[in-house]
Amino acid sequence: MTNIIVTKNERETKRVAAMFARSIIKELIFGKKAAVVALSGDLGAGKTAFAQGFAKGLGVKEPVKSPTFVILKKYDISKHKTKTTRYSLLATRFRHFYHLDCYRLKNTQDARSLGLAEILKNPANLVLIEWPERIKNILSKKQTIAVNFSHINETARKISFN
Ligand code: ADP
Ligand code: MG
Repeated sequence: MTNIIVTKNERETKRVAAMFARSIIKELIFGKKAAVVALSGDLGAGKTAFAQGFAKGLGVKEPVKSPTFVILKKYDISKHKTKTTRYSLLATRFRHFYHLDCYRLKNTQDARSLGLAEILKNPANLVLIEWPERIKNILSKKQTIAVNFSHINETARKISFN
């Protein structure tokens, strides 16, 4: 089933992303590999904005910047243990949040040199990937939740969850 949401500005996209993060962590309590959220869509469609809201929803305190130039950024989520169920559930599984932007990766070899294969194996990792098409050879469908972004106009974006 596909759910489609239209957002009218960046703030709405961030809010949707934070809600999405909270809803998936409730369902991802167990897993043998990392959990991947794959964000597809054109430049400027709102993937990084979504990543920022998503991280906030997870309880990552550090501001999330676009990783385009660094490709990969790691955030600690192990210290966000609070009394609320949401974070204690999260703490049982995920230790690290990775934000990855594959736009500049040319091939799977580039991804391997980042140590990505290892990152994707670790069930304690929650990995959000922009431009996942670039590394589809090393992503398993089973571990991946896909989200697609498209422009409707200058300020409206369509976000589809599969
Ligand atoms: P991407 O990572 O997909 O290239 P960004 O999130 O970096 O896209 O940029 C999205 C741009 O579009 C930002 O400048 C943002 O302010 C703008 N924008 C306008 N409307 C929206 C919306 N509904 N959702 C997200 N971003 C929006
Ligand atoms: Mg981006």
